Amino acid sequence: MLSHPGLVRRGNEDACAALPEAGAFVVCDGMGGAAAGEVASRLAADSFLNYISGQNGNAAVVPQRMLAAAIDAANNAVYRYSRQSAKLEGMGTTLVALVAPVRQAKPDMVWLAHVGDSRGYRLRGGHLEQLTPDHTFVAEQLRAGQITSEQAANSPMRNMLTRAVGTRPVVEAEITEHDAIPGDLYLLASDGLTHELTDDAIEAILAAVATPFTQAALAQGCEALIAAANQNGGRDNITVLLAAVLDS
Ligand code: CA
Repeated sequence: MLSHPGLVRRGNEDACAALPEAGAFVVCDGMGGAAAGEVASRLAADSFLNYISGQNGNAAVVPQRMLAAAIDAANNAVYRYSRQSAKLEGMGTTLVALVAPVRQAKPDMVWLAHVGDSRGYRLRGGHLEQLTPDHTFVAEQLRAGQITSEQAANSPMRNMLTRAVGTRPVVEAEITEHDAIPGDLYLLASDGLTHELTDDAIEAILAAVATPFTQAALAQGCEALIAAANQNGGRDNITVLLAAVLDS
């Protein structure tokens, strides 16, 4: 995983974290005045992984329920922090997570959970698929057929989230289950990547990652994604995390 401030912003309000021994990976993109965005994303990522860590190795865990509870924990941590001062009001963060619990009833499955517009993608057989529908007003209007994809791309409201972690006492995460096939490559990314690069451009970069997958190959893939986003302007913080499904 790799996070870069981009070429315009001075700070970095994104956060990424991983607990490989628990099969858990997370990217957050914070928002809020002063340094509140940075605090929100870090607090959410850490609280999320802390919760997962406490469940690690528990074979009775139901992944969907564990993920929902882990995001509740992240939401509580950020929301409670935000209540400490009026300056922090409205602080929040996106969250996208990939989890493949180590001891589970379905060893060939992985789970994605998200809130907001940070995305989870999967490259399979050279084809990239976005697995997390954005929680934005524009994406929801687009799905409802109320606007065209061109209007969506140019909308001044394209950054407005319909859900965020920490802005309200309760949040509902979207959680999906996916079959894991050796050779699958998962990408978690903040919008600093996806606003600068089309899905086709991301697909081309991921398809060029050397196989069989190694940590070095994935690190190179992360660097290539960030370099390409910066080449296209780097107007926002950019965070990417790659995880590959290996042969058993
Ligand atoms: Ca962002």
